[in-house]
Amino acid sequence: MSRDPRHDLLFEPVTFGPKTTRNRFWATSHSSGYPDRPGTHASFRAMKAEGGWGVVNTGFCSIHPESDEYPWTSSRLWDEGDVINLGHLTEEIHKHGGLAGVQLWYNGMHSPRYESRESARGPSGLPSNVFPERNVYAAWASEDDIKALINMYVLAAYRAEEAGFDLVEVSGGDTTVPLQFLETRYNKRTDRYGGSFENRARFYVELMTALKKAVGDRLAVTTRFEVDTINGDHRIKHFEEGLGFMELMNKEGIVDLWSIKIGDYEEWGEDAGSSRFRKPNWAAPFVAGARDLVDVPVVSNGRFTSPDDMVTAIKAGQCDLIGAARPSIADPFIPNKIAEGRVDEIRECIGCNMCVSRMQQQALMYCTQNPTTGEEYRRGWHPEETGTSPSPSAVLVVGAGPAGMEAALTLARRGHEVHLRDSAEALGGHWRAVARYPRCSEYGRLITYREVMLEKHKNVSVQLGVPAMSAQEVLDYGAEKVILATGSHWSPVGLGPETHEPLENVHADLPNVLTPEQVSAGKPIPEGKVVVLDGDGHFTGFAMAEIAADLGRETTIVTNTHDVFEYSKFTMEMPNNKRAMYEKGITFLRNHWATGYAGNVLRLFYLYRDTAGLYETAPGQWGRRFGDDVVELECDALILTTSRVPDDSLYWELIERKGEWAEAEIDGVYRIGDCVQPRHAMDAIFEGHRVGMELESPDPQRPLPFIRERQIWGAPTIPQLGDQRPVVEGELLV
Ligand code: ADP
Ligand code: SF4
Repeated sequence: MSRDPRHDLLFEPVTFGPKTTRNRFWATSHSSGYPDRPGTHASFRAMKAEGGWGVVNTGFCSIHPESDEYPWTSSRLWDEGDVINLGHLTEEIHKHGGLAGVQLWYNGMHSPRYESRESARGPSGLPSNVFPERNVYAAWASEDDIKALINMYVLAAYRAEEAGFDLVEVSGGDTTVPLQFLETRYNKRTDRYGGSFENRARFYVELMTALKKAVGDRLAVTTRFEVDTINGDHRIKHFEEGLGFMELMNKEGIVDLWSIKIGDYEEWGEDAGSSRFRKPNWAAPFVAGARDLVDVPVVSNGRFTSPDDMVTAIKAGQCDLIGAARPSIADPFIPNKIAEGRVDEIRECIGCNMCVSRMQQQALMYCTQNPTTGEEYRRGWHPEETGTSPSPSAVLVVGAGPAGMEAALTLARRGHEVHLRDSAEALGGHWRAVARYPRCSEYGRLITYREVMLEKHKNVSVQLGVPAMSAQEVLDYGAEKVILATGSHWSPVGLGPETHEPLENVHADLPNVLTPEQVSAGKPIPEGKVVVLDGDGHFTGFAMAEIAADLGRETTIVTNTHDVFEYSKFTMEMPNNKRAMYEKGITFLRNHWATGYAGNVLRLFYLYRDTAGLYETAPGQWGRRFGDDVVELECDALILTTSRVPDDSLYWELIERKGEWAEAEIDGVYRIGDCVQPRHAMDAIFEGHRVGMELESPDPQRPLPFIRERQIWGAPTIPQLGDQRPVVEGELLV
């Protein structure tokens, strides 16, 4: 297929500073948790270049141990060791024709510094609002300290050049030190770096000037700038200091390209807006006008996955290049697919922020839509090329939810003969209902992508609306291998993570007790006071509460966790979850769990009703004095999002009849996804993909080992004890 001429615009080269990118696709800097694993990191970023992105940026890259982000894993440009590792990354990006960018990051006052244990510098000696619980501050910087800070950036830029980067992007977003100087919230100085707008801008101007002088004739010097923090009077606001600052910098001629964003470090969920709260290109009104103020290219992000939306944004003058972090994770091949007229094959980001959530847990980043994310090096996976099976077989997949769909698609791509069967009338399993929850419509892309791709494979037969398969039918089907992806259901008796017991007098057969499946199927929610008992902590309980509140029910969420929908802390949705609940009058009670439900009273207990001290409870016997206080909550209807229960009966029946497999010519029966153990869709899809990739292994039920990247004892370290660091104190280096 050939490219739609309307999309030609996206493939025009753009020049910024001394560099020219092959097209208008800019893979924005984003963290990944990978930098300590140089192979994983390089292969992950390089995949975007292979998929056609003109510019591929790393994640945030600390320029000095004073801005050590540990326990978060940033890239670092501290010494020669980092140059070697990042040198491998740029080499891989260059192999595929991309320009490599690195984001220079110093966030002193908001850096935990749990590895380096150094003191950081900042405009004023204030505590961090991002990590108030961590007791982190920055020391008030003297004018000499300010020079030292600039020198740190310059040395990092020299190292970036040595590592082969094409551009250095100064982070002036996420409340890093240039922003700390700019914002009155952080800048309490009365010298020439504080007070007036021009004074507060001085550090940023001097910094960009120094970098231009140091490397500007060879590398592009760009910045990622928070044009509006959308968070109140004491911060950057679009129409005043945001645009004003861009104008001021433009006059100085020291920025080769602007990558603009909104939000701040405390709420970077406004930049990485989830689809539950932000539609694609939600930042458009905030960045409007910025492009007209500067003479250099501008990048703007907005979870763009549609080439039409990209073209519209460029034609409307919003930007010159399309920035994307999450869309480039979910589908590193977006540019190539557009270029080849395969737009229907784009694996569109669903905006679930599961990628962000792993990073927020200081873990490794994975993606719901793209199970190969982070697996490019360590498992040798590729998002578009699965290879072909050396021994194709006839495979029956029972269950077409996220796990079953992905397994069927992967097996089909690898040349197996696949039979995907489900008793439901449509693909998607439980995710079909999820995609109909309030705010969750973009989640449906998880199903549509797989539906489109399954249709393109002639070797897969999708059989929907069939009678639920029995063990006998599976044995009689004629498949060589059987994969069960039969899913799970919400506990109808309130089994949950606190007591692991059913609740007294609770069953979803009662008219005033409901599960999410029943709510989705239209079971009426009785009038009056509704309680959502949530042990899940993610988005389902929220959806149930919102459905009830929108029907006018007085809604309360009861949860055992320390915060309501605690996982949303990691997806960066917590603040907006709370705002939405506040707006809708939804209240919540934390650290409580239920024991039973009678009449219209839900009996709860406070998790910490026992004594803090340990006592001699009887002569010679020690323990805690257990509390027996009960909290009684009026409740006319109870919705249970307590936990899910695997639908695994078919699996156990088949295991019981293992002796009959040989006669039925079945080599193996494997189970994947929620029927093994309920889990995030991201992990169900991963398992579907893995079993599809490893079906020929000795035991496909168990994963093959992957490459573990860590220092092996005895290898030399960089630096070594006794090595010296370059001196940053003193006069400006440039
Ligand atoms: P997962 O998240 O693990 O992919 P889901 O719960 O989303 O699981 O999907 C499981 C699917 O399996 C559902 O669509 C359900 O209709 C289907 N299913 C379960 N048991 C059978 C069976 N015995 N025969 C056919 N389909 C089944
Ligand atoms: Fe998009 Fe979700 Fe993948 Fe992140 S995890 S890139 S939000 S689909």
